[in-house]
Amino acid sequence: MPIPTEPVGSLPRPAKLQAAYADYDAGKITKDQLEKEQDAACLDSIKRMEATGAPIVSDGEQRISSFATYPLTDTLSGTGLAEGLAADGQYFAIFTDGHHRQLPRLTRGPFRYETYAAEFVAKAMKMASKPLKQAVIAPSMLSLLYPLDGEVKGYSREQFLNDLCDECEKDIRMAFKAGAKRVSIDFTEGRLACRNDPNNPWTGRNMLGEFIKLNNRVIDRFSPAERKNIGVHTCPGGDCDATHSADVDYAELLPSMFKMNAGYFLMQLASEKDKEHVYKLIGQHSRSDANGVAQVCFIGVINPQNPRVESPQEVCDDLMLASKYIPKERLGSTDDCGFSPFSIDVKPKHGSPDVARDIAFQKIKARVDGTNIASEKLGLARAA
Ligand SMILES: [Zn+2]
Repeated sequence: MPIPTEPVGSLPRPAKLQAAYADYDAGKITKDQLEKEQDAACLDSIKRMEATGAPIVSDGEQRISSFATYPLTDTLSGTGLAEGLAADGQYFAIFTDGHHRQLPRLTRGPFRYETYAAEFVAKAMKMASKPLKQAVIAPSMLSLLYPLDGEVKGYSREQFLNDLCDECEKDIRMAFKAGAKRVSIDFTEGRLACRNDPNNPWTGRNMLGEFIKLNNRVIDRFSPAERKNIGVHTCPGGDCDATHSADVDYAELLPSMFKMNAGYFLMQLASEKDKEHVYKLIGQHSRSDANGVAQVCFIGVINPQNPRVESPQEVCDDLMLASKYIPKERLGSTDDCGFSPFSIDVKPKHGSPDVARDIAFQKIKARVDGTNIASEKLGLARAA
């Protein structure tokens, strides 16, 4: 088997689609009109991703407000916000360039998703000729919807977490049922949980341990055969070409992260200062038997925040170095993060979201080609 390669999920939304989101928020166009633009952007995303030779593709998340809020709201401005939520929740993250992203706040129970990722899978299945992956949000991220202190009246934290786990499980099961071959859980808050930023109170509460436990409450509901295709994505954030926790040493996260019984991990690494240090940690802490499934380690070989396109040789070199520490049968390649996890993103370092899309496809092609070269070098069959 060749080295597997898989995207995280998102692509920049075309400028035209971002304008349509704004028009929808302003009440200038209907939901149907917005959906037409989403359809066009998804089709373009899938076709162009398939043209790179990638063995598995996504719809570029063109239909969602963000990787974290898709179950709860149609747009980032809060149009279509689900019942029982208010827009003024806590900061999920404060980024290095000073901008922040906020979560909604739970005002009453019971907690239910408004939209499941399966809806996007079903639409993408009609457009794709290659296997599809779908990203879903982690229960740990959505646990931040509940106020840090105090209680939602008539709805305890425990009741909320029970409902949340049920909804996350349902989200994953339905995505598979709709046709997704792989489902990865976005866990960007994992590394941020080690940051302790006084401006962002939840990061100073040592929540990593409870995040891991909560996510395992969902992951452990799946059989080893199912978990083979359930992944976890970690990164230091990626929005408007900025990060939120790149200064946290992976040594603080990885020993805990690999305790999650997922079958694979998509890990930011291309933009990491000392990659070899992290490859070593991955080799030490990833498990060949996580309750019946071997953890496959997909290392980031592409930096979606930097417009410079990596060469296939660079991709190959990263994989060859990583293979010194990570068994080659448990090695994969990925992009460091989605190319635009939030729908409204002008991709400032790229000049425009449309330019950033063109660059993203070149980068994905470099990932695919470089991974093929490494597969041959390591004596693994080349991808078809
Ligand atoms: Zn990410």
